[in-house]
Amino acid sequence: MARYKVSYDKSLCIGAFACVAACPKHFAQAGDKADLIGADNAKDLQEKEIGEEDLETCKDAEGVCPVNCIKVVETK
Ligand code: SF4
Repeated sequence: MARYKVSYDKSLCIGAFACVAACPKHFAQAGDKADLIGADNAKDLQEKEIGEEDLETCKDAEGVCPVNCIKVVETK
């Protein structure tokens, strides 16, 4: 089964929270920016692996982010 990596650059986030609306399982509001749930939230570049079952909502988050700071890529 395919695996995917979600990368989120918190330094670019403007706090629109469209990602939280699109994918509340993986994105949460944290003050004036978002965090990628389950990633190392102390870092600006936050990353985690997801499976096929979460691809659609994470792709939605990638698509709605106004500053394009969310990327979803296939890892294998
Ligand atoms: S949609 Fe983009 S800019 Fe808005 S909170 Fe999410 S990551 Fe930040």
